[in-house]
Amino acid sequence: MPVCQIVHLNGSFLPLAEARISPLDRGFLFAHAAYEVTAVYGGRFIDMPGHLTRLSRTLAGIALPDPLSPSGWEALHKELIVRNDLNEGIVYLEVTGGAYDVRDFAGPETFVPTVFAYADSRKLIGAEARDGIKVVFLDDTRWKRRDMKTVQLLSQGLAYRTAKARGADTAFMVEDGFVTEAASSNAWIVTPSGEIITRHLSPAILPGITRAGVMALRGKGGFAVTERAFTPDEAVNAAEVFTTSSGAMVAPVTHIEGRPVGDGKPGPVTRQIQRLYYEAMGADLAAVAPWAMERA
Ligand code: PMP
Repeated sequence: MPVCQIVHLNGSFLPLAEARISPLDRGFLFAHAAYEVTAVYGGRFIDMPGHLTRLSRTLAGIALPDPLSPSGWEALHKELIVRNDLNEGIVYLEVTGGAYDVRDFAGPETFVPTVFAYADSRKLIGAEARDGIKVVFLDDTRWKRRDMKTVQLLSQGLAYRTAKARGADTAFMVEDGFVTEAASSNAWIVTPSGEIITRHLSPAILPGITRAGVMALRGKGGFAVTERAFTPDEAVNAAEVFTTSSGAMVAPVTHIEGRPVGDGKPGPVTRQIQRLYYEAMGADLAAVAPWAMERA
């Protein structure tokens, strides 16, 4: 499905076909841009404050001024979904270093950002969440500041292409013998003894807002999470594997490198975390995810 037709560009709402950005924009020339993808469910944003905090951290990290206040960003997001009548999907926001009359690596002393946003209608709780996804391992060739959410996404784009060519949905990126994260989500495993593990926060991975959302459910769900790096071997031998992201929420991984994880079906811990997460989003489980209600 194409994205919604009314987009936001530099303070205006206009049809996508009329949105124009200069080819000298630093987002285009240098990938000098921050972005965020915020989930919308039932017409409400999920964890907007978390996304805005991460956005301002990324902007500070890439020398860009934050052009709006948190309430300004929130209003922009809201107006976009109202104008497009979006009930479920995502809002994509990008803030670039702006366009100048020369291609200069360093750029001006103070940047005047380009702000672009669009809404995209899609099911957040869909077939992938129900049936699971397949992953392969690939070398993590990204830059070293993956904690900042920038549009330097070439490694991930190529990883997705390779994964697809190998019959998988995405890739687990591997660096120095450990899984960092998936190409566009955080990676989690459940060991055969039931320990839930996800990599600790550091510049090696993106601090996922969905990851933080799952962490926040520990008390209610009565589960603990060990935050440490795990190896590809641990993932292959895990009882369960899943990913978290704003676009796919909690997605079970059923196959790694063509081999089933556990019995090749989404496991009970993953299902429990899906249930808790969907409930926290305000989803009607019986209606949209009856499969998540089946207990082991
Ligand atoms: N890691 C990477 C590399 C990502 O691209 C994403 C999704 N943008 C995530 C993790 C998950 O982050 P979030 O839960 O904030 O969507």
